Amino acid sequence: MLCARRLGGLRAGLRVRRVSTRWSPVGAAFTVQPQGRRLDWSGERGGLFGVPELSAPEGFRVAQEKALRKTEQLVRRVCATPPGPRTVLIFDELSDSLCRVADLADFVKIAHPEVAFREAAEEACRSIGTMVEKLNTNVELYQSLQRLLADKKLVESLDPETRRVAELFMFDFEISGIHLDREKRKRAVDLNVKILDLSSAFLMGTHLPNTIEKRLLPERIRHHFELAGDHAVVDSLRAEAPDDLVREAAYKIFLYPNAGQLKRLEELLSSRDLLAKLVGYPTYSHRALQGTIAQSPETVMEFLEKLSDKLSERTMKDFEMIRGMKMKLNPQNSELMPWDPPYYSGLIRAERFNIEPSLYCPFFSLGACMEGLSLLFNRLLGVSLYGEQPTKGEVWSEDVRKLAVVHESEGLLGYIYCDFFQRADKPHQDCHFTIRGGRLKEDGDYQLPMVVLMLNLPHSSRNLPTLLTPGMMENLFHEMGHAMHSMLGRTRYQHVTGTRCPTDFAEVPSILMEYFASDYRVVHQFARHYQTGQSLPRNMVSRLCESKKVCAAADMQLQVFYAALDQIYHGKHPLRSSTTDILRDTQERFYGLPYVPNTAWQLRFSHLVGYGAKYYSYLMSRAVASMVWRECFRQDPFNRAAGERYRREMLAHGGGREPMLMVQGMLQKRPSIDDFVNTLVSDLDLDFETFLMDST
Ligand SMILES: [Zn+2]
Repeated sequence: MLCARRLGGLRAGLRVRRVSTRWSPVGAAFTVQPQGRRLDWSGERGGLFGVPELSAPEGFRVAQEKALRKTEQLVRRVCATPPGPRTVLIFDELSDSLCRVADLADFVKIAHPEVAFREAAEEACRSIGTMVEKLNTNVELYQSLQRLLADKKLVESLDPETRRVAELFMFDFEISGIHLDREKRKRAVDLNVKILDLSSAFLMGTHLPNTIEKRLLPERIRHHFELAGDHAVVDSLRAEAPDDLVREAAYKIFLYPNAGQLKRLEELLSSRDLLAKLVGYPTYSHRALQGTIAQSPETVMEFLEKLSDKLSERTMKDFEMIRGMKMKLNPQNSELMPWDPPYYSGLIRAERFNIEPSLYCPFFSLGACMEGLSLLFNRLLGVSLYGEQPTKGEVWSEDVRKLAVVHESEGLLGYIYCDFFQRADKPHQDCHFTIRGGRLKEDGDYQLPMVVLMLNLPHSSRNLPTLLTPGMMENLFHEMGHAMHSMLGRTRYQHVTGTRCPTDFAEVPSILMEYFASDYRVVHQFARHYQTGQSLPRNMVSRLCESKKVCAAADMQLQVFYAALDQIYHGKHPLRSSTTDILRDTQERFYGLPYVPNTAWQLRFSHLVGYGAKYYSYLMSRAVASMVWRECFRQDPFNRAAGERYRREMLAHGGGREPMLMVQGMLQKRPSIDDFVNTLVSDLDLDFETFLMDST
């Protein structure tokens, strides 16, 4: 059972060791104060992530030049190699040598505390980016892959992973129009440049504040906004403001259409459409959805329409409830508007369930949560987490912890760098970064994956460990789901390592972890009061879970609306009317609260850039995770056989296998769109048991 995953047993015995003396229990790594930790001041300063050149910012230039030289060498080699599996292997090595610098630099340029490092990394990203562009239009390189893929017999002789990776490389080539005649190729290159420029300009515009003359705001709410001279500056929707009028004003001003931004969006969408057509697809959406679970825009729309229909009754009930709350507090003006749901559903949640975070925090010390994760992975997958002392210069901040991920019989699987704590200038996002992908090297050794998890948790102090709110705990589980996807992947090629998989599959492992984080049997294992050792009472866990279902149908309905809008924008062009008219119609069809004249929410929809035509992915990943939870783990969240199947059928393949095949392998049946819809809607049902428990 294990050998298929071990890639022919090539690395069996090589690195197997149970526990190294360098490893300490994971909980301790997060509870012991930095000043109490043994820091290694002796010896030479090594480089970031153990890359020797990166002991100083200048090292980026050395690393990047080394990568570029190696790339040129590999390009020559692949062009001289007769078509066959070696072609794919060299392509992957080529991609590896560039990614190892680019991915590392991508992280360092935003997260390193020293400006010099950030700037050097930025420069490295630029020069590697230029190289990648050059390679994507290198006809000789393209032809070496083309020769392989054109030979049917040869293609059939490849193993499925190799074939898929070859196709993925080809897919990247084709967007540059490399397979077209010279004139069209030039148009494709120009469109790519234009799309890149429009994307960053649009993205910038989504965050820019709008201003309004101060005198136009009702006097009693003026002080709620930042004032600059005669103007008030509105930089967000202020969705949580208790005053209805503040939310209404913020909504109408922040979403007031900006002509420049509108033009950028229209041009971005039409350029994407032109490019897709140029390289041979009917719409941009058709191109974007290649290789995903959904596979086609038709399937995505079917999913969204069915989900919307099935949700609508529950959504109406949620809206009724929210309207009731508004009426109670503001009887003169109780019409429900789009700026109301987040605020009033928060009030309803607070009224029904007493889930004050401070009641929960003492039970969720970071050390306890990490122990809990390690224990869960151990029982499910035979994998443990250990703290490892980083070498001097290996990490970018003293509070970064390095974890070794160790399998009970296979040994070390990879490393997770935990950059968990708040720091000045650190981006405010919880995120997973691949630093180095896993791959089988030519010498038969496995290149171990390395990732960073970034969170923004409070530091511990002398008498108080880092305590997590329930939301932070769930995020930690979510991000660790991504990390384990990276650690347990054993793909032959780094091009498809761990999270380098289709967008609508990528959130399955992380969302699945949220189900574990909400299950009492799991939480009970680790949630202990940091002072008294008392475990978190069961009814508190249930209350927490039930509170998340308050107005959850309306929340999901909103996501369906956004996803449908994204599909229509990236669907058939020319669009049937303006983006604002489409927004209004789609909002009516898929959401239910009225469109507000003179607003254009789509101009703030930053995910149109990064997720173009794939915004539905989160909902679909959630559907798959929900089914995996129900069918495989709900009965017993520590079921080792299910855990092994999960690794074998899903995690091990990264993006190297068609996603629906992974889903099918895990569930042991091929789910239909109706199955996806039903599981999402069933998740909204209140738990009868909790209901009974709370009423006694
Ligand atoms: Zn995620």
